[in-house]
Amino acid sequence: MLTQVITTPVRNLSLSGIKNTENVRYQLSPEELIQDTLRLGEGVLSDSGALVIRTGEFTGRSPKDKFIVKDQITESTIHWNDVNQPIDQKYFDIIHGKITEYFESLPELWVRDCYACADPRFRLKVRVITAKPCDNLFAYNMFLRPGDEELENFLPDWHVISAPDLKLDPAVCGTRQHNAAVVSFKHKMILIAGTAYTGEIKKGIFTILNYLLPQEQNVLSMHCSANIGEKGDTAIFFGLSGTGKTTLSADPDRKLIGDDEHGWSADNIFNFEGGCYAKTINLTEEKEPEIFNAIKPGAILENVIFYPGSNSVNFDDGSITENTRVSYPIDYISNAIEPSIGGLPKNIFFLTCDAFGILPPIAKLTPGQAMYQFISGYTAKVAGTEAGIKEPKPTFSACFGAPFLPLHPGKYAKMLGDKMQEHKVNVWMVNTGWTGGPYGIGTRMKLKYTRAMISAVLEGKLNSVAFQADSVFGMSVPLECPNVPADILNPRNTWSDKSEYDAKARFLANLFIKNFDKYKDGATAEVLAGAPTI
Ligand code: ATP
Ligand code: MN
Repeated sequence: MLTQVITTPVRNLSLSGIKNTENVRYQLSPEELIQDTLRLGEGVLSDSGALVIRTGEFTGRSPKDKFIVKDQITESTIHWNDVNQPIDQKYFDIIHGKITEYFESLPELWVRDCYACADPRFRLKVRVITAKPCDNLFAYNMFLRPGDEELENFLPDWHVISAPDLKLDPAVCGTRQHNAAVVSFKHKMILIAGTAYTGEIKKGIFTILNYLLPQEQNVLSMHCSANIGEKGDTAIFFGLSGTGKTTLSADPDRKLIGDDEHGWSADNIFNFEGGCYAKTINLTEEKEPEIFNAIKPGAILENVIFYPGSNSVNFDDGSITENTRVSYPIDYISNAIEPSIGGLPKNIFFLTCDAFGILPPIAKLTPGQAMYQFISGYTAKVAGTEAGIKEPKPTFSACFGAPFLPLHPGKYAKMLGDKMQEHKVNVWMVNTGWTGGPYGIGTRMKLKYTRAMISAVLEGKLNSVAFQADSVFGMSVPLECPNVPADILNPRNTWSDKSEYDAKARFLANLFIKNFDKYKDGATAEVLAGAPTI
């Protein structure tokens, strides 16, 4: 049954190009969006009250299907590459036409006004128009939620229009295949079609902020999480997907600022988002109580499986995808601060999940090493699920976030370098990946040890211990750390076959050097000295 159908087009919906719409469901509450989802059979409730949905064909982002309209604005400003792919204005117009036509044919659609950037100086007003109520709830969870007063004269800066069930014809639309996310800076629009992976909505806005903030506001935008200690000391955690940004920022002893996207202005660190988007594979209440307890009414669980005959989630079941997720408003984490703003950071952590088991679990970086590692953006994932493939898959993604960075990585790196120098920030490398050997032989570093190492840094407990330089990577490895067995601090000690460790370390160092080749010319001697040596 329809409840509270709004039958008039809302507040200039025509700005989006969508006309003649009758059943606009504007700014519904989470409860109403959950009811709509259940009514349409697009989700069910788990026993903890979270809404459980499936995202269909796509259970992760599709970077090869993301396009930016090449026009006067973007032509010479975008760093065109395989993740910043150009598309012609004429195709944007065609796709926009298809999407508006599609929305005009729907019996109902959901509209949400929200904003990005917790610091009001940089606020971006966003109108999200979705063909599914659960996507609208995702926008409620993930973006900042305006109060009634702020809604009164809400004129959106940007539109996100999401139509998961609209399949594009690549021959007509100029896309690679039937799905695409298309950004137009001229029209200030992100069009998403053919994919129901909710993460495209949030990472679309992240992409445009990574374009706008550094160029127009002199704010460094970052793919990182952030939290703040009792003494007001902010820490930030960079890292590619699965390295631990969300997990490690949810720290019972520190207040959460945000789990994925932040800006670094002249005087603060601020969250872009109003919610978190956590991985749930192998989640346990014991190891990650804050995230576990956020899975309650209003939260959306994606692609999880219930224990047979129940509505109880089996978090160990990755049969749909290993990338099972939950989104929730940031205040579902009990110690989140609002507004999500902290002071300038004292410590920066670069998280890597090194499935080769080579990098030390914690190490201090010189400014040159820090820049080298930031530009490299290394992690190594566990290889795919295909039988027989055991080698970890190395990834180098500049600034720990290349898929979301429309500008040249050098722009972000320069800003970070300047800020690190100006504020004398300590930079640490944290390997949350393998110890005791590579994937298949060793094991993943225990979360409690990684947490203990980070706590030790933040409490200043590594200030007085001795360090030793890693013979290949040069970074300074502490010889002891409170609450961590000393023999795991040097990864070489944890391998039974030392010569195998040495060979693999050289192999990995070579990958770094080869990858850095393309940045070599623009790099200073100090940064080049941060490279591994073989
Ligand atoms: P994304 O950018 O995709 O959101 P993320 O960096 O936020 O990725 P997390 O969601 O924090 O990554 O994922 C880290 C995963 O690794 C979690 O499932 C966590 O339980 C698991 N994990 C296991 N051991 C560790 C460890 N030592 N440190 C951090 N995370 C660990
Ligand atoms: Mn995350």
